[in-house]
Parts: sequence; structure tokens; C-alpha cells
Amino acid sequence: MKMYDLIVVGGGIAGMTAAITAGKCQPGLRILLLEGKEALGKKIALTGNGRCNFTNANMSPAYYNTDSAGVDRDWWLREFLNLPKEGSVTACPAEEEDYGVSAVLQFMKDELMVLCEEKQGYYYPSSGQAQTVQTAYRRLANRLAEVTYGKVKNIEKTTDGYRITAEHTDGAARGKKGSIGKEITYQGTNCILACGGTAYPKTGSDGSGYMLARRMGIRVNPWHPGLCPLIAAQPEGICKKWAGIRAHASVKAVNAGRILAAAEGEVQLTDYGLSGIPVFQISRFLSDSKKEGDDYRVYIDFVPRLSEAQLQYEIERRIAAFGDFRGIIHEKLYDAMEFEKSKTPWKAMKHVELAIAAAKGYDMAQVCAGGIDLTDINPKTMQHAGTGVYCVGEILDLDGLCGGYNIHAAVIGGIRAGRSIHDSYLTD
Ligand SMILES: Cc1cc2nc3c(=O)[nH]c(=O)nc-3n(C[C@H](O)[C@H](O)[C@H](O)COP(=O)(O)OP(=O)(O)OC[C@H]3O[C@@H](n4cnc5c(N)ncnc54)[C@H](O)[C@@H]3O)c2cc1C
Repeated sequence: MKMYDLIVVGGGIAGMTAAITAGKCQPGLRILLLEGKEALGKKIALTGNGRCNFTNANMSPAYYNTDSAGVDRDWWLREFLNLPKEGSVTACPAEEEDYGVSAVLQFMKDELMVLCEEKQGYYYPSSGQAQTVQTAYRRLANRLAEVTYGKVKNIEKTTDGYRITAEHTDGAARGKKGSIGKEITYQGTNCILACGGTAYPKTGSDGSGYMLARRMGIRVNPWHPGLCPLIAAQPEGICKKWAGIRAHASVKAVNAGRILAAAEGEVQLTDYGLSGIPVFQISRFLSDSKKEGDDYRVYIDFVPRLSEAQLQYEIERRIAAFGDFRGIIHEKLYDAMEFEKSKTPWKAMKHVELAIAAAKGYDMAQVCAGGIDLTDINPKTMQHAGTGVYCVGEILDLDGLCGGYNIHAAVIGGIRAGRSIHDSYLTD
């Protein structure tokens, strides 16, 4: 059986960051990176509309969500993101190493040699191509770790580490046809779990990481789609009429009258329901399986920039002058919604209610909500309390908003885990 100091399961952005960091901090470390698909980091090329938005100058716990009920969310996130109590972008002086936005930028520039560009706080590679980040990661990971293509089927904790069994898929990639489907077992002193969630499963994140974790006794919360479109309960009526319109609006996720989240921006009105970034931002609150008493709705305000009184004034003066109140919202929306039939159109335009049946599935979700419960994960080291396994990236029950927050968390988690492995050798 081949022995390693560190085995990283999952070669996405989180796993590669961890392997690279451990390899840089501790030269000579025997690192195995096990990836289930035929190539590393397949998802990276799809991110940020092909441009990879990897972090954001505005960093706050408010941009993250978790279903981990037992954890103090604000505390965990401030520790993890290295934010002082009041919340600011300044790194926490108490920690020697940097784990803020600048840590991600430094990793991109110094380790990956990816030049960065900022647009309204959103950071991208200056090439404008996500592929730049993907290629840089692949090159460095291959240099610092032994990369093997195999789907991990089991992780067993042993007295001196972890025994990891993988079914090999790398025959074609490496010209060793005979090795396809062959089960091989590896022994690692340390193990990092970085399998992602279930979003965009064709990139390799098929939920098998959750099963591996559960089998080890790691608590995994139910997972559900995040950052995705929402399907209306009765799309036949209004959705058919408004399909194809893009409108500036504010949207609220509501369950049985309780407002759970809100966002504003360009909403895409579709023949099945709602899409667009503001809808993505609130989708995780309406995407899990409904329980008794749940009544998922989205409230839409098509004129969020005007108060009801201001809108009433605008509508009344247009009616007095022209007999209608066109020109306040998109023409097609005005016709589709038939607001002029309402006795109080200023109320109607600011409060459209849409019952939600479900979220679009994982094929269209940019992130997976739910996952490994944060309660048992040390936010400084990423180590799981019971098993000693390090858990990083989207496999954790931590999902960020659109804006670079998910890659930021995957990179910070990877850096923390990689450095923790190095630190464990210093203290041994
Ligand atoms: C279309 C799209 C656009 C996005 N855009 C952005 C964006 O612009 N900014 C942003 O911050 N976030 C974005 N995200 C989210 C972000 O890409 C992810 O949160 C992040 O890449 C997660 O990284 P990860 O390494 O944890 O997981 P993944 O990237 O999912 O990687 C997990 C890896 O583990 C491997 N694996 C899984 N199971 C096993 C197993 N059993 N054995 C071996 N290997 C296994 C998989 O093959 C995969 O390579 C986007 C996501 C999508 C789908």
C-alpha cells in the first residue's frame, strides 16, 4: 500500500488550494491529490460567466448562509474570514497569518501567478478568462502533489491515519488503460475532504463526499440547491405572459408570511418562474423540501426605488395627463400584468406575490446549500473535531452569495487546512 503524509480527496479549487499550500509550506511532504473526474478543477472554467469572480473587497458574515443550527454563525464566520468583531475588511491583527481578502489576492498573484483586476469590488483574473485560473491551478497542483484520477469510495480512520480506497478512472488520462475501474487503497497520515457538494454534478461534485463524510460519522445536514432559479407553483398564467422580460425589482423570499431574505437587481421573468441574480441570492431559502406548514412565496416589488406614496403621485399625474401610467415599468410588463385594472395600482406594482413550487435542480444551481455541519469544524484549522479530517470548500454547510464569496471561502479554507497540516508537523 502506498503511504502519504497527506491525501486530499477532491481536486476542485478548495482541494487544490490545500494541496498547494501544504506543499509550499512543507517541502518534501508526500501529497496525493485524488480526483474523481478525468481532470482537475473542471468547475473553475464555468465560474463568473467564464471570467471567475474569485473574491470581493466587501467581506462580511452577512454574505454567507448556513443551516448549521448549533453554531454561532457570526462567531464562526468572523473567525474563519478573519474579521474583527464589528465587521470590516481589515484583517484581524490577532492572527499572524492573513486570512482576509488580501490572502486570496496574494495566493492568486504570488502562488498561481494570476494577475487580478477589480470591478466595483469584484475580483477577476485580468485576462478576463476563468481558464487562466484553472490552468494555473492545474500546473501548480501537478508540480506540488502526485495527482491521481480515481473516485474515492471509502475512507477509514486507522490508528496511524486514514485508509482511502479509490476506484481508478485515470487509465485514459495517463495511457494506462488497465487501471480503469481498479480499486486501489492508499494510506495517509492526514486527510483533507474537498469533494464539493452536488451543484453542477457533471463537473464531478455528485454528493459522494457527503456519503464519505457520513460513513465516517461526520454530521452532514440535508443539502439543497442554492444560487438558482425558482419555479412558480402555477406558471401557466402570469409566467407565460411575462416570459422574456428583464426588470429591475426587489424580491423577498417568504415562508408562511415570514420574510427570510431580500435582494434587489435585474430579475429575469421566465415562462417557469423567476431567475437572475437577486432571485439566486434568495433561492436557498425556498429550495429545500417543503415540510408541513411551509408556504414558499416570492414577493416582488417592481418599483423598489419609489415609496408607495411617491408611486401613487407618479401614477396619478400620468393618468391626469395621458389617461394611463405607462413609462414607469417595462412596457411589456405593464401590458402583461394589467396593473391598470387595479384600483390601487401603486400597491399592485409594489406587491406581486408568486407561490413557489421548487427550485431548479442542481444542474442549474451554482452552489449547494447544507453539507458538513460547521459546529464540529474548527474555523481556524478546518479540522473536524471527532475524526481529525480537514474539511474544506463547498462540502461544508456554508454557502455564499453571488459576488466571489464561494470561491473566497474555498480558497481561505484550503489555505487554512494546508497551513494547519504544516503546523501539525511543527508541534509533533
Ligand atoms: C456555473 C457556476 C458559476 C459559478 N461562479 C462562481 C463565481 O463566479 N464566484 C464564486 O465565488 N463562486 C462561483 N461558483 C461556485 C464555486 O465555483 C464553488 O463554490 C467552488 O468552486 C467550490 O469548490 P470546491 O473545490 O469546494 O468544489 P468543486 O469545485 O465542486 O470540486 C470538488 C471536486 O471533488 C471531486 N470529487 C467529488 N467527489 C469525489 C470523490 N468521491 N472522489 C474523488 N474526487 C471527488 C470532484 O470531481 C471535483 O473536482 C460557481 C459555480 C457554478 C456551478
